[in-house]
Amino acid sequence: MKRFEPEAVAIAVNVLRQQLSGRVETGAELRRQHANTVTWLDNQPPDAVVFARSTSDVATVVRIGAQYRVPVIAFGGGTSLEGQINAPEGGISLDLSGMTQILEVHAEDLDATVEAGVTRVQLNQYLRDTGLFFAVDPGAETATLGGMAATRASGTNAVRYGTMRDAVVSATAVLADGRIVKTGGRARKSAAGYDLTRLLVGSEGTLGIITELTVRLHGQPERVVAAVVRFPTIRQAAETTIAAVQLGGLGLARIELLDAMQIEAVNAYSKMNLERQPTLFLEFHGTSAAVDEQFAMFR
Ligand SMILES: Cc1cc2nc3c(=O)[nH]c(=O)nc-3n(C[C@H](O)[C@H](O)[C@H](O)COP(=O)(O)OP(=O)(O)OC[C@H]3O[C@@H](n4cnc5c(N)ncnc54)[C@H](O)[C@@H]3O)c2cc1C
Repeated sequence: MKRFEPEAVAIAVNVLRQQLSGRVETGAELRRQHANTVTWLDNQPPDAVVFARSTSDVATVVRIGAQYRVPVIAFGGGTSLEGQINAPEGGISLDLSGMTQILEVHAEDLDATVEAGVTRVQLNQYLRDTGLFFAVDPGAETATLGGMAATRASGTNAVRYGTMRDAVVSATAVLADGRIVKTGGRARKSAAGYDLTRLLVGSEGTLGIITELTVRLHGQPERVVAAVVRFPTIRQAAETTIAAVQLGGLGLARIELLDAMQIEAVNAYSKMNLERQPTLFLEFHGTSAAVDEQFAMFR
């Protein structure tokens, strides 16, 4: 049962068509693609999809949504797994995947400012020659940095580089009434006022729609060594992980545990022949000498 007036969405879509000509779509397949398609959860499509190109487009859509009391659901890459992009009561999906400009890179300060639709892969391709990289890697290649900030994404190398909670320095966001706010500057340390960046990160579009964000970068490691370790039991794999993490000096960058059933799924999907046992996949990052030493210690 929709909580807003049934005609409201039709009026809002008409107004949006007038203001954002050519970027408002209502085709069934496109709407279906803008709801959950990744998991067993129902696909609950929005009534319309609007493609934003700027912060001001986002503010326009949010303002019109607020005026007609029609839900607005931000959409980045649509890779989230918990049905967050579904529109159970209908409404407008606001697609930010076209906002792909890399606005500034401050190599000396180890940060970059990007539009919300930039993906990790795009940013890392851009940074390739700088010796820097963006570290948070949730595994889904089309996830956008805006969506990753909104879900406080983590990933396989969070053990060394942290999650989006650590990676986002500041954000520009559109609030529910269409106001545009910036949550902070690029300074590493600020004790002035509330930490609005941390409030926004993980709020899944409910407190504001992120249109730009400044993220931390890291130096590319001199050497990367990968390892695969099998264990008789999950408990032994977990105990090894805990011991390795507690040995803070170890340069563990990635660590991912797969149980026997997951290994079976990997074998079936990727036509591989891994032994069906609990397995840790690891990566060590650092200077050449440090990686050798850390790997020997882990062993
Ligand atoms: C194979 C696979 C592996 C994954 N592994 C991990 C993992 O290891 N760790 C992990 O954390 N996640 C993982 N995920 C989940 C997913 O990648 C993350 O949730 C990702 O951060 C979502 O980004 P997105 O751009 O696709 O966002 P979407 O799915 O489009 O949106 C996610 C949520 O954020 C909101 N949103 C989107 N953009 C914005 C914006 N600009 N401003 C405000 N709100 C916005 C949406 O409304 C929605 O609520 C995995 C997914 C897949 C498919």
